[in-house]
Amino acid sequence: MNPAEARRLGLRETPAAWEIEAGQGLRSLQSLGLRFPGTTWDLKALGQVAARYPVLVTPYYASLIERPEPGDPIFRQCAPSPEELVNSGDLSPDPLAEGKFMPAPGLVHRYPDRCLLLLTNACFVYCRHCLRKRIWGISQGRYDRRHFLRMRDYLAATPSVREAILSGGDPLTLSNRELEFVLGSLRAISHLEVIRIHTRAPAVLPARIDSGVLALLDRFGPIWLNTQFNHLREITEEAAAAVDRLLRAGVPVGNQGVLLKGINDDLETQRALHLGLVRIKVRPYYLFHCDPAEGVGHFRTSVECGQRIVQELSRSLSGLAIPTFAMELPEGGGKVRMSLPG
Ligand SMILES: *Cc1c(COP(=O)(O)O)cnc(C)c1O
Repeated sequence: MNPAEARRLGLRETPAAWEIEAGQGLRSLQSLGLRFPGTTWDLKALGQVAARYPVLVTPYYASLIERPEPGDPIFRQCAPSPEELVNSGDLSPDPLAEGKFMPAPGLVHRYPDRCLLLLTNACFVYCRHCLRKRIWGISQGRYDRRHFLRMRDYLAATPSVREAILSGGDPLTLSNRELEFVLGSLRAISHLEVIRIHTRAPAVLPARIDSGVLALLDRFGPIWLNTQFNHLREITEEAAAAVDRLLRAGVPVGNQGVLLKGINDDLETQRALHLGLVRIKVRPYYLFHCDPAEGVGHFRTSVECGQRIVQELSRSLSGLAIPTFAMELPEGGGKVRMSLPG
């Protein structure tokens, strides 16, 4: 239940600190622009972009921006760009064909032993490179307990599924109270051995990793958590502290980065990122080739670029620092690991 709902029902619930911070997200071009007086943005062109793909940035993440221009890796991940409306023919609203693999609304079952639950379309930050831009803000994408219960029923009736991956959107936008219901319901399914949470909270709203959520993660374990750091500049003291809290609660933290043109598509940036991750004990998991999603074409690099970078990383860095380079095959063909030997 979100605080607004609680108020409507007459429950007087004090919002948690992270809920207040998330509520102060910058939700328009204007509010983002106010942080950077003197910018010469083309408000008309950007207004069209924001009308199609809305703006949302936490004050914390906005504070990491050094220069309000596309050359800044933080700015480029969260500020709209006219390039989002340029669509060459190879881009698709649903490049992984997730819609084809849904036995229940929002539940993607593509691999026999694990299911992906798109619990909510809500996020703390709308990342401009988002693979699921198609579901931003649509009403059917909102968290709905009835939808979750249908997902739970499918999981309970499908014993081949050993792992449930909570994704979205960002599942940690749910209140701790609702998360308790979700995790408790999944834990009651005996063949579900592992729960995995995909969230960008450590990178974009570290305050979300509060004592309430840590207690839930501990209580309903084994829970694994994968996050998404794409640049060393995101590895701040706050982010490192959030990761440390997770690790102390017994939650292993992995990273699923995305290779993004103009942000991290060179060896030095990736080397610094992966060394930074190992320093805060985040295990690099995947480095993804950027999927051909509509509105994201300007972030795509060649597959060879990713292969070359990961090959160079594996020549020079500790094995702990090496991600697996992976991409999705078209039409829902699934993930393939693309690293070159040696
Ligand atoms: C990526 C993905 C998973 C998880 O794959 P891993 O290789 O285990 O990380 C599960 N289901 C779907 C539909 C996916 O796209």
